[in-house]
Amino acid sequence: MAEFLEKAEDLLRRGVIKDNEIKESFQDVFSARTELNAIYTKSYLDIDNIESLFGAIEMAQVIGKFGERTMEEIIKLRESIITLIVHTLERSISFPVRNGQVFPTEHHNAFVKMLQETENREEGEGNEFTIITFNYDLTMDVALSLNQMKFDYCLEEGKETNKVKYLKLHGSINWGLCRQCNKIIPLSISEVNFNTYPGHTKNANYNFSSWLKERKHCEAGYYEHPVLVPPTWNKTAHNNQINNVWRKVAKELSQAENIFIIGYSFPTSDLFFRYLYALGSVSSMRIRRFWVFNPDPTGEVKNNFTSLIGRGIENKYQFYNESFETSIQQIGKALRRY
Ligand SMILES: [Zn+2]
Repeated sequence: MAEFLEKAEDLLRRGVIKDNEIKESFQDVFSARTELNAIYTKSYLDIDNIESLFGAIEMAQVIGKFGERTMEEIIKLRESIITLIVHTLERSISFPVRNGQVFPTEHHNAFVKMLQETENREEGEGNEFTIITFNYDLTMDVALSLNQMKFDYCLEEGKETNKVKYLKLHGSINWGLCRQCNKIIPLSISEVNFNTYPGHTKNANYNFSSWLKERKHCEAGYYEHPVLVPPTWNKTAHNNQINNVWRKVAKELSQAENIFIIGYSFPTSDLFFRYLYALGSVSSMRIRRFWVFNPDPTGEVKNNFTSLIGRGIENKYQFYNESFETSIQQIGKALRRY
């Protein structure tokens, strides 16, 4: 998150972003950052961090103030930062192509295959999984889809399925919002045509967000921008269906036997996760493992989580100074043994 804006600037500078309207959106966000920089010192807000900046812009829309901008310009700015996030993700994430066929990214593929292996054990009941993520991108969605693992974003309340629950707390770049019925309608990965590449192609990028322009739910079609939510807690600005997802996360945390946290550093300012965990995990008796994987050289992440977990599960908590890649093997081993 700290390097996201740098990446976006780099894409703009190198001419990767060609569409003029999209370029203007990028520039809108960069000038907003410069404005904030002039007003506030860095100690109030880390505006080089995309999530902080997104949060500040969201807040600006609620209070109707962002420097000298009019309300109309503030609303436009919120759309601009969503455009920047979507296009930076789409241009930065490429999927491997072999013999004209698209594959999931390597580690996400390994992760999904690990889930499948531990799910389909020969004896007894298989494991049930819930994937909870703060990410907006579609790398996991593509890995699940291309491995024929059915999943449910759980946007509808009370609808229980036996699919993998895949909970995207901050929205997703394939979640369209219908102008007419105001419902979030996720566009399915299975609709993407992944097989149209000449043999020599090695990588493919996807403009997933362009689907929103092409498809319709009710007569009126979708809003131009997908449903993305900044990490700041603001229940007024959000769709009820996002609340369904959050509710589901709390429920799943309260029923979990194993909690594996990969690549989330739990910064001390993140009250949202603290409340979610505290409210959601009341029945900590069940927890067998609370494992955190993070390649953090400073020891800070380990301490952040130590301050979070309640009494009674200290002995279930283990910190692994490891990457996503190696965490997959560890988790697979633990689940198979269990
Ligand atoms: Zn509709």
